[in-house]
Amino acid sequence: MKISKKYMKPRIVLHDVCQTVFLSSSQIKAINSMSLFDWFKKAMNLLDNQKVKLAVVAEGLSQETKWVQFIKDNKLEVQCHGMWHIEMHKFDYKRIYEDLVLAKGIIENTFDQKITEFHPPKLKVCPAMYEVCKDLQMNLVLARWRPDHLLQGINVPEVYIHYWSQRHLNQIREVLIRQQSPEKL
Ligand SMILES: [Zn+2]
Repeated sequence: MKISKKYMKPRIVLHDVCQTVFLSSSQIKAINSMSLFDWFKKAMNLLDNQKVKLAVVAEGLSQETKWVQFIKDNKLEVQCHGMWHIEMHKFDYKRIYEDLVLAKGIIENTFDQKITEFHPPKLKVCPAMYEVCKDLQMNLVLARWRPDHLLQGINVPEVYIHYWSQRHLNQIREVLIRQQSPEKL
């Protein structure tokens, strides 16, 4: 682990994009104030000019048409966060394969982009998941770094955020302020 006082500009991966079901208790709390799409737009507003990547949950794409259009209009990179936002690491090879081949196809067809990465829900993995990803020519990306790691001065190429978490957005805002004002380091 490289510790540095210099803040590089890591790519920011937004998890849970277009998720509509299997919401966690934290997500349910978040949608009391506004919809997940509104949270997403708020995050994207903050992340203007940053390198971002979207980890998309395929189940929501047919319903979240405005969200899909927003992603297309802004030419954002999408990757796969699963068919459903569930603990896939509990499944066997066959079920994981069926879910991922479906999710990959739906996301590729929706956005006309090649999907090369799987970002597992809840960052939980199992050996079968690695096998499936290899067979589907996807990289299993397990980026555990969060914005608070950036605030600790740890240089990483990629961090994930929950765009619906005000805490994560506040941390990102602080990271961006420090990037713009190196004298604060
Ligand atoms: Zn997630």
